[in-house]
Amino acid sequence: MSLSEIKNPNDAWIIHREEINTLQDGVCDIYVVLDVITGRCLEMETSKNLPSSSQILELIKKSCSQVNTTPQKIYILKKDPLAEVVQAVCSGLKIAFDVATQQALNPFISDFTNSFKQFKCGKNEFIDKNNDVSPEEIEAFIPDTYGPCPCASGKKYRFCCQKAFKDITYAMCEAQDGHLDKALYYMKQAEDKIGLTAEILCRYAISWSFFDSQKTQEFLAKALLANPNHPRTNYILGIESVEKKDYQSAITYYQKAIDHYPIEDKFHLNETYNNLGTAYYKLENYQMAKESWEKALVLLPSDKMVANNLFQCIYTNSAVPKELRTIRPGH
Ligand SMILES: [Zn+2]
Repeated sequence: MSLSEIKNPNDAWIIHREEINTLQDGVCDIYVVLDVITGRCLEMETSKNLPSSSQILELIKKSCSQVNTTPQKIYILKKDPLAEVVQAVCSGLKIAFDVATQQALNPFISDFTNSFKQFKCGKNEFIDKNNDVSPEEIEAFIPDTYGPCPCASGKKYRFCCQKAFKDITYAMCEAQDGHLDKALYYMKQAEDKIGLTAEILCRYAISWSFFDSQKTQEFLAKALLANPNHPRTNYILGIESVEKKDYQSAITYYQKAIDHYPIEDKFHLNETYNNLGTAYYKLENYQMAKESWEKALVLLPSDKMVANNLFQCIYTNSAVPKELRTIRPGH
């Protein structure tokens, strides 16, 4: 029985997780049990952390008592971190279980999802800014907050840098607008939330970079001391090396950043591979430039800048050896 074959109310339910940003608690999850046919929301629960199996069991039981029946099947989004827990609970309750793709679930959850639009984290800003990116790409592009943190701490993003995400964002905007005091104020807020981690030290460096290059260097050095593998610090050192036309060092830094960004972090990997390609290109290493840009394009196929680099600097560049001027299959 697939989602489209379901005919009767309460034959199948969807357990759906929506991540929202609340004023009081910051990021939290809302769990809902939705009936596939009627779209009715049977139960709803909010949670700061991933619910335990007993909480999920409770959620399903409450939904059952709402309608005095048990569904034949429960669906959940394929990559939802809760999928395994729900599967175990369903098997205990003798309810069939299946995962479904975002695309398959969308018709059934979109009304619900839209009602939370204004509270959602990150995703909408990203869509607004990137009109020609497909919804599937966006799904793949925004790391799940239960995924590994881009700062390479090994912690989940949600329990690491996300706690300071807003303060860091404000600080970056203020610094860019020339307001050092305000930037440092927000950085202090961020520091108070997650401590003086490599990520925070690196963000101090970025804040200072608009005002004082010596301070910038001091903070970058401190960030590397805190974590030599910190991806963003290595990425920034790569950019600085490019500015000094030291492309070989830039390549080393970019490669280190790539080695330590979580593989789920397509956003930063795309950006770093693009820069890596440019550094190789400056050294006229066309083979590696091509490989780096192609990797960047695989991570974000609609990236026009990378596609342009490949087209102008490789595929149609007569300085490039002919055997390299071919688009590899699948690109
Ligand atoms: Zn982190």
